[in-house]
Amino acid sequence: MTRPTQIRIDVAALRANYLFARGLHGGRALAVIKADAYGHGAVACAQALSAVVDGFAVAFLDEARTLREAGVRNPILVLEGAFNASEIKLAQQLDLWLVVHHDEQIRLLQESPAQARFNVWLKIDTGMSRAGFKSSDATGAHERLLSSGKVGSITLMTHFARADEPGVPMTVQQIDLFDKATASLPGERSLSNSAGLLTTPAARRDWGRPGLMLYGATTHGAEVPELQPVMSFESSVFATRTLEPGESLGYGATFVASRRTRVGLVCAGYADGYPQTAPNGTPVAVDGQTTALIGRVSMDMLTVDLTDLPDADIGSSVELWGRNISVGAVARASARSPYELLCAVRRAPRVYL
Ligand code: PLP
Repeated sequence: MTRPTQIRIDVAALRANYLFARGLHGGRALAVIKADAYGHGAVACAQALSAVVDGFAVAFLDEARTLREAGVRNPILVLEGAFNASEIKLAQQLDLWLVVHHDEQIRLLQESPAQARFNVWLKIDTGMSRAGFKSSDATGAHERLLSSGKVGSITLMTHFARADEPGVPMTVQQIDLFDKATASLPGERSLSNSAGLLTTPAARRDWGRPGLMLYGATTHGAEVPELQPVMSFESSVFATRTLEPGESLGYGATFVASRRTRVGLVCAGYADGYPQTAPNGTPVAVDGQTTALIGRVSMDMLTVDLTDLPDADIGSSVELWGRNISVGAVARASARSPYELLCAVRRAPRVYL
């Protein structure tokens, strides 16, 4: 390795978070590992979880194919996709479960020459107004799916729009609408993403679909002490310098020293996925102690305040997020979401612990 920047992935923490999510849910849980497991590496995460999970969910067929090619044999639900005959064929070959949210998919299933019957998750729209059959059409869509002659089982699902805002009535309204629309239909149910599992016990059904919480992050504002951070974004100080009062630092001169300020230069920047929007004061840990980012984040470098850390020097470890600094804290400071930050990490090598 030629530079000290790396992404450390704690697979034991990932497993513990999955087991916590499933325990909270009390039923079975699909581990959502789409988008390369939210930046953590889908194949490695799937392999780390395969002995304990009830199944995985990915966004696209290509993601599922990558997992199958790596030898992952667990059930895999494809949340988006299967929109043409060759994708349906591939889904059959790879033994995938499909989310069906559009009549075109039902037509494709019906016309598929496949002998096999598909395990299908029927997505009912209860307020997201994105993908999904209208709740008034839930029974109709269920009938059309059944009469395609190509389905084995049908699981009923919906997706929450605002479950990370506890107390907002929309989640309860979505649950009510889902329950009413599907009251006469047989089959298992799945409602909750991470925020739903954490904030809305009434939404727990046969299957949970936790994503973000598996990686130790949340968006609903409350700390969840049982969740452990999985990713540590680490680097080190490669140079130091001292600013005199009044001197500015970096592009845009966004930081101006109000006192003698010792600056540490760190070998990571926005090209590694650290948010360029992170302002002065964003927390960062140097040798395990919290200090602040100062100056604008550059492509390959960022700068931190070492003034109150006299022992910190060249070679000191820097944690941009991980066990000391939560990715949520960096996201909040940067006006971004932890989803975006985790998914954006790139260039630095991943090391699995
Ligand atoms: N279920 C569906 C249908 C999704 O699209 C997603 C992610 O967007 C999830 C579950 C997991 O969501 P989260 O990462 O918020 O737990």
